[in-house]
Amino acid sequence: MSILVVGSVAYDTVETPLGRAERVLGGSASFFSVAASFFAPVNLVGVVGDDFGPAQLAAFRGRQIDLTGLERMPGKTFHWQGRYSQDLNSRDTIRTDLNVFEFFEPKIPEEYRRSEIVFLGNIDPGLQRRVLEQVERPRVVACDTMNFWIKGKPQELRETLATVQVLLINDQEARELSGEWNLVRAARAIRAMGPRTLVVKKGEHGVLMFTDHGSFAAPAMPLEHVVDPTGAGDSFAGGFIGYLASAPEVGDAALRQAVVMGSTLASFCVEAFSLDRLLTLTRPEIEARYQVFEQLTRFESL
Ligand code: AMP
Repeated sequence: MSILVVGSVAYDTVETPLGRAERVLGGSASFFSVAASFFAPVNLVGVVGDDFGPAQLAAFRGRQIDLTGLERMPGKTFHWQGRYSQDLNSRDTIRTDLNVFEFFEPKIPEEYRRSEIVFLGNIDPGLQRRVLEQVERPRVVACDTMNFWIKGKPQELRETLATVQVLLINDQEARELSGEWNLVRAARAIRAMGPRTLVVKKGEHGVLMFTDHGSFAAPAMPLEHVVDPTGAGDSFAGGFIGYLASAPEVGDAALRQAVVMGSTLASFCVEAFSLDRLLTLTRPEIEARYQVFEQLTRFESL
């Protein structure tokens, strides 16, 4: 099944306790596409400026990522700058330069319109909806967002959420979106807004998933070297959605496997700045780490 993703393709400037990376490749659609392309073909919809060079585009080449929908506009590529706390568990956005995104009107290429799975990456919720309107009867629509939009465009976001089946956000965002501190209560409130499947990412504390079948929890991989958490959420989404696109059916078992696959991709992403680790990753490495997850969480019944 093919996946359509719309999201940011960006230059990121990132400071972590371990160093700084200046204007490196980032963006929600970039991390998502590379992670998801290990499992299924990806159709990327986004925009870059005329400062986006062949070296950056090379990250997407040689993978099952179609770039017909990646528009180039005069002006600068979206730029995001963030700084992480000492324990890497929280970050501050220093600046968000929307640049070409401010004027972007997504046009879905004809051959993308029948994509079966749609992932609305973290961008303006109004844009997310305008993309969705151009897709014919997708089987699954999943969505991400962040504080910037929860605070900045709450009404638009509510309208988008009413049309999606899966929402992937982090714990802070879940609290802000619902106005509830307790995550179980937050999940109930958010699922009532539209998405029946809610995946709450808790950084190094793992993931909680709430569905019509009940809830599921998975830890994050305990890692010795974490360099840069940027993109972990999008890589998670890429592994999660990519896996579902390759699964014969989307039931409870596949959703649980998808959470572990998402956690697997995220665990690789944080081992280096930008997409550096994802770009050297191989399918056998993914499978080996999935098995480590299985070991990590296996215990006998009483
Ligand atoms: P994550 O760490 O998975 O939450 O995603 C980080 C990525 O999101 C970075 O590569 C940024 O370029 C991108 N990003 C940050 N803020 C925004 C925003 N307001 N709109 C779209 N993309 C953003």
